[in-house]
Amino acid sequence: MKVPMLDLSEQYQTLKGEIIEALDGVMSRSQFILGDNVKRLEKDVAEYSGVSHGIGVANGSDALHISLQGCGVGQGDEVIVPSFTFFATAGAVARTGATPVFIDIDPKTFNIDPSKIEAAITEKTKAIVPVHLYGQMADMDAIVEIAKKHNIAIIEDAAQAIGSLYKGKKVGEMGTTACYSFFPTKNLGAYGDAGMIVTNGDEIAEKMRVIRVHGSKPKYYHHVLGYNSRLDELQAAILNIKFPHLNDWSELRREKAENYTKLLNETVKEVTTPFIEEHNYHVFHQYTIRVPKRDELQAFLKENGVSTMVYYPKPLHLQPVFQELGYNEGDLPETEKACAEAISLPMFPELKLEQQQYVVSKIAEFYSK
Ligand SMILES: *Cc1c(COP(=O)(O)O)cnc(C)c1O
Repeated sequence: MKVPMLDLSEQYQTLKGEIIEALDGVMSRSQFILGDNVKRLEKDVAEYSGVSHGIGVANGSDALHISLQGCGVGQGDEVIVPSFTFFATAGAVARTGATPVFIDIDPKTFNIDPSKIEAAITEKTKAIVPVHLYGQMADMDAIVEIAKKHNIAIIEDAAQAIGSLYKGKKVGEMGTTACYSFFPTKNLGAYGDAGMIVTNGDEIAEKMRVIRVHGSKPKYYHHVLGYNSRLDELQAAILNIKFPHLNDWSELRREKAENYTKLLNETVKEVTTPFIEEHNYHVFHQYTIRVPKRDELQAFLKENGVSTMVYYPKPLHLQPVFQELGYNEGDLPETEKACAEAISLPMFPELKLEQQQYVVSKIAEFYSK
């Protein structure tokens, strides 16, 4: 049996007619940039996030960068970020000229550890970027409390977490802004790059809308330094077709996650299955376990037709590009441990139970040897 990490083809087959019609509509009207599809998606995603503004941008990385710029973050500032995340979280900070300050994670949830934040705050700290990793929201109450006390902005990196909830609150409701990625593999995926910022702040929303069109307002008059970062109309047309299905897809992901957890806990004692905070609605962008002998397990699964991914093998504080920041091995022990132990199993709404049973049987076989 072959079990891919992700298979988007079945989803396309079920939506194909509608998608082709929507694309034809865009091309027939020949309105390609910031047209009706983008406006509709911005409105729908903002509403879905319980906030008043959606700003479509070129990708999730730009959503982070433009959010930071919108908060006035730049040269000489510091921004607190987890080290156990995709590069863009810290890359966006560095692109503004500010310095990423890396802190460790809570080993249970893999999310930023709020108890480590205050010690990292200086008078240069302008913002914090909690990442809702794998689809589970970070401990927002604690983060909001610290941010309020120190008057710093919260940019939620929600690239993996559209639709997730924290104590009934939505992504975007508690942060200054929240950033979505519609990269094809994300829970709501376009057929190319796309992203969106959502926020309740009227002023910052206006500022970010201007930044994504070269900082011009009106056109050809430039007061701030912006660039070209727009959500493409064709991608928005595709996302408008997919968006109404998002909640069903999240439910299916949660079912798959439950299946894995039950099967794994019954059969393999070496595996630590995901920890879900009781107050969280986890949307399982990834189903990530901790295991001993991770790399050997991954190779064994590959030999047996099961693809897996390691998110992430090397912490950001030890990446060569951030070498000059002066971090050393051992600085963030929980992050470094997670980089050695975490492995993500195949996860997508159309995954079959037989495929999951096969994956778990192969994991069990590996540890029984
Ligand atoms: C995917 C991702 C991003 C970047 O989004 P792009 O659309 O690929 O630019 C940022 N942060 C996290 C945690 C991600 O998973």
